Amino acid sequence: MSELGVGKEVVTHCSKCSHDLAHIIEVMADTTTPLRVKCKTCGASHKFKVKKAAKAKSTRARKPRVSSEQKLMNLWEAGIAKSKGETSKYNIKTKFNIGEIVDHPKFGLGVVEKALDANKIEVIFKTVSKVLMHNK
Ligand SMILES: [Zn+2]
Repeated sequence: MSELGVGKEVVTHCSKCSHDLAHIIEVMADTTTPLRVKCKTCGASHKFKVKKAAKAKSTRARKPRVSSEQKLMNLWEAGIAKSKGETSKYNIKTKFNIGEIVDHPKFGLGVVEKALDANKIEVIFKTVSKVLMHNK
């Protein structure tokens, strides 16, 4: 990499042109970092933006990916949070409404996500969503 300095060229992002373009350095922040640059394309001078690309590359592997399980858990947590702690024991004869919290003997607490038909509801449990019979 060539040395940077006032009057030298540097390729950086121009927000006016929306591209990475050659800029002339007007002011240096320190010996290696430009402070103000002037776009050779549109002539606007603006602050030099430090590139984040190099940093992002090294941390990319550790970036957490939101899995479908995590999404389910988020939905579940949001549903539980909205319920004010009221739960109903799951029973095939009971009619459940959307948003209600079901206490299932096998799956634990679940949030009624939607009614599929008169006798079927989709319930989100912490790690799995299930279609349950109800209102029989
Ligand atoms: Zn420009």
